[in-house]
Amino acid sequence: MAFESLSDKLQNVFKNLRGKGRLSEADVKASLKEVKMALLEADVSFKVVKQFIKSVEERAIGADVMNSLTPGQQVVKIVHEELISLMGSETTELKLKNPSDVTVLMMMGLQGAGKTTTAAKLAGKLKSKGRKVLLVACDVYRPAAIKQLQVNGEKQGVEVFTMGENQKPVNIAKGAYEYARKNNFNVVILDTAGRLHVDEDMMEELQQIKENLHVDQALLTVDAMTGQDAVNVATVFNDKIGIDGVILTKLDGDTRGGAALSVKAVTGKPILYIGMGEKLSDLEQFYPDRMASRILGMGDVLTLIEKAQETVDEEKAKAMTQKLKKAQFGFDDYLESMNQMKKMGGLSSVLAMMPGLGSQMKDIENAIDEKKMARTEAIILSMTPKERSNPEILNPSRKHRIARGAGVDIAEVNRLVKQFEQMRKMMKQMPGMMGMGGKRGKKG
Ligand code: GDP
Repeated sequence: MAFESLSDKLQNVFKNLRGKGRLSEADVKASLKEVKMALLEADVSFKVVKQFIKSVEERAIGADVMNSLTPGQQVVKIVHEELISLMGSETTELKLKNPSDVTVLMMMGLQGAGKTTTAAKLAGKLKSKGRKVLLVACDVYRPAAIKQLQVNGEKQGVEVFTMGENQKPVNIAKGAYEYARKNNFNVVILDTAGRLHVDEDMMEELQQIKENLHVDQALLTVDAMTGQDAVNVATVFNDKIGIDGVILTKLDGDTRGGAALSVKAVTGKPILYIGMGEKLSDLEQFYPDRMASRILGMGDVLTLIEKAQETVDEEKAKAMTQKLKKAQFGFDDYLESMNQMKKMGGLSSVLAMMPGLGSQMKDIENAIDEKKMARTEAIILSMTPKERSNPEILNPSRKHRIARGAGVDIAEVNRLVKQFEQMRKMMKQMPGMMGMGGKRGKKG
């Protein structure tokens, strides 16, 4: 999971800080040294780290903080704020012209960065906001690129414009623009060709498109897994072509997070979206504040709620919230919530957004493993309705009967009941935590 190691390290540093009633300057300095190491290990650029630590230190070693009742908390707060500022402070929206006009978006990036996938993801996102989007296949070199765009376009219900492989990209782009005007499209997304490395031909091609067409937004896709390389690539593209925004892909993977933390600081250009998976729905708006909360283990309940709103039936969700409030969450709800988590991109992506829940959630994660789902379901369905809504009454003889009914070992029933209790306990803590991560974000 992205940022896992950085997040763990920072949380450890802060656990020590928080525990102290009084802080000395030396305490703060020692902690910040550890923060510095953690950031460098996360592949954040050296210059950025240095500046970051300096800003935090200036604010943290002051009378306000040192004499406050909760100096440790104050330092965490400062780090949080500085992380937000590092990533650009405000959420930057993709700029689109009026729907009566055609907005041209040019997607750029190295091969494999996720450009074609992201073009289709973005097309879907804009379509759902009521835009009429045309995807344009300008990648005439990679043999499968046109087909890939067509397949993804079809999945998104978005038309794909192509002129085959024998036209120059700039001509395809011009043709697409004309086509879009005539057919009332209002967003054109150009999927240009990438290369394995930054090279002259690629830059030349992009420049040609920019000179011959009014490109409203040049968007660079970079792979977060490549860390500082991603930042270097962004710098070169920005110098040679000029970029308006960055889309950081593969943040769901095992990235150390350095790219997310350095791109804005190094290039001055904002991250607009983040790719969180291979599915076409896995593109999220980038919120510096929420990302900072995720990194510091404060969770990202706002994104979680938005995802839930996109996937969950509203009435059911309301009923569920009521039950949670009254601690009436039963096994039927457990089943329902497992199904919903599956819809929301799987448990691990949901867990990553929950405040401070890292390792204690592993058991539950195992329970929701797809293969185990069916068995869990069988166990729950072997309970009587009364048992499902009042798990307290599950005594050994009831558990034996349930195990027989589901065709599983009693140990498995016991495990499920234990996991359920853990989850219920955690759910009870949730409402309080929600306020914490929830106030700062802005809805996009
Ligand atoms: P392009 O060469 O830049 O057009 O890259 P593609 O769009 O073909 O993507 C390369 C690979 O990265 C494909 O296997 C994609 O499924 C994958 N990919 C793209 N974005 C993401 C993402 O956000 N997360 C993950 N895990 N994979 C991604």
